Amino acid sequence: MSNITVTHAESGLVRAEVVRRERVTPNMVRVTLGGADLDRYEHRGFDQWFRLALPVRGEGGLDRMPSKFGIGGYVKYLTLPKGTRPVIRNYTVRAFRPAERELDVDFVSHGDDGVAGPWAASVEPGERVAFIDQGCGWKPVAADWSLIVADESALPAAAGVLRDMPRDAVGHAIIELFDARDRQVVDAPDGVAVHWLERGAGEAPGAAALPLLRGLDFPGGEPYAFCVGEQALAAGARRHLVKERGIDKRRVTFSGYWRIGQASPS
Ligand SMILES: Cc1cc2nc3c(=O)[nH]c(=O)nc-3n(C[C@H](O)[C@H](O)[C@H](O)COP(=O)(O)OP(=O)(O)OC[C@H]3O[C@@H](n4cnc5c(N)ncnc54)[C@H](O)[C@@H]3O)c2cc1C
Repeated sequence: MSNITVTHAESGLVRAEVVRRERVTPNMVRVTLGGADLDRYEHRGFDQWFRLALPVRGEGGLDRMPSKFGIGGYVKYLTLPKGTRPVIRNYTVRAFRPAERELDVDFVSHGDDGVAGPWAASVEPGERVAFIDQGCGWKPVAADWSLIVADESALPAAAGVLRDMPRDAVGHAIIELFDARDRQVVDAPDGVAVHWLERGAGEAPGAAALPLLRGLDFPGGEPYAFCVGEQALAAGARRHLVKERGIDKRRVTFSGYWRIGQASPS
């Protein structure tokens, strides 16, 4: 579930190759992408995200990928032979360095299940990928204060928004991790309090973030809230804000980035 507006950038399909892989914290792997095609990528910052095509069934399928991922592009993707079709997963741009033609993506290492997590944990330099830019979920809504609620999968999104929001912004960012050692340095405005939380072993996402949110004293005025991460965390935060705090739902952007026990659809 999500109310994020997906945009289809003019750049279409951007090809890149893995330059290096680095474990930045115990459960987060940073894969740096590079290559001349990155010159066509238009960086907008914040939580800018893309559909990443992973050539786990061979690189041949990458050349037959659609250039956009609207309805037509998705149908074209589905007609690619299953045996060579790249696997698509959604990821956030953690950092972009145009002068070096480098783009970082931080992948949660969530075990052996799935495709993207295990791929990132073992990929070697030189592997080809492709991605389709889908824009930013964070909206430039005029607001008196801002609120971010995120889990580890949305740490790159939260960090990007904190980095790119106006320096005079005020508010709160609640970032829940399953392992406190995955905390990263973030460049937040002085007026935004960043609350790092760790949920207990075996607890569902949101177990730490939602109680803190419920007890938080909100500043006065109109907020803009951005709630992203595991489905229950994102939906739970939105429900609380709209139903219990009476915040206009147009002021709450939310997106279930992943779902416990369920693989991403494509
Ligand atoms: C807009 C957007 C931006 C995103 N940005 C990022 C990002 O920058 N970094 C990032 O790590 N993720 C990000 N995600 C989440 C990522 O797309 C999902 O976690 C995706 O399911 C990972 O694919 P997979 O192939 O590893 O696992 P899947 O094949 O989709 O799932 C396999 C199994 O792994 C479980 N699983 C999937 N993700 C996680 C997780 N994070 N923790 C624990 N278990 C999991 C599933 O429940 C399932 O049981 C983003 C999602 C969206 C929608």
